[in-house]
Amino acid sequence: MVPHYCVNCGGELVKRVIEGRDVEACPQDGFVLWHDPKVTTAVVVEVEGGIVFGRRAIEPGYGLWCLPGGFVNDDEEPALAAARECMEEICAGVEMTGLIGVYHISKRDAPSMIGIAYQARLVDGSAPSPGAEMLEVRVFPVDSPPPLAFPSHQRVLAEFLRSRAKPGAEGPLSAAAMARRASPPSRERARPRRRHKP
Ligand SMILES: [Zn+2]
Repeated sequence: MVPHYCVNCGGELVKRVIEGRDVEACPQDGFVLWHDPKVTTAVVVEVEGGIVFGRRAIEPGYGLWCLPGGFVNDDEEPALAAARECMEEICAGVEMTGLIGVYHISKRDAPSMIGIAYQARLVDGSAPSPGAEMLEVRVFPVDSPPPLAFPSHQRVLAEFLRSRAKPGAEGPLSAAAMARRASPPSRERARPRRRHKP
């Protein structure tokens, strides 16, 4: 294995077991090289006729299609990171309308990821066009997406379709649903009336 070094003191890390996990740590100052997941976003931008996809001009997945999205920076709210990525990749201002889900995306050759998937709509007057990392941008019907670069985006689309199929047409964790949950329960809901049995 390639030796790793402490980010604090530069000393060589040694193997340790912490909380049942094999990690590398610094014997000098206790620094631990945790293998934390990276956080990434994917956005289902709903427009007339379907969903906005971009065809990738970069690896991984050159020439294949993807949802707009990308890594969340250290100082960003995930939803704002998602909106920033939409601006960079499909050159469009979007407004998040709900949360589709949160997923673990397992990787072998890189840090695994936590994917946060949003649904969104274009802000007034915004028209998608390809950003620097996209060859083209196009709208595909929800139920017939193009060949996708990432299995995680397939999962997001499947979850999005499932949530749309439900009566009420809201995602399971839509912004509206979360807002409802955050508000105090009404007296009526707190104490449900029992039906009298005949
Ligand atoms: Zn150290």
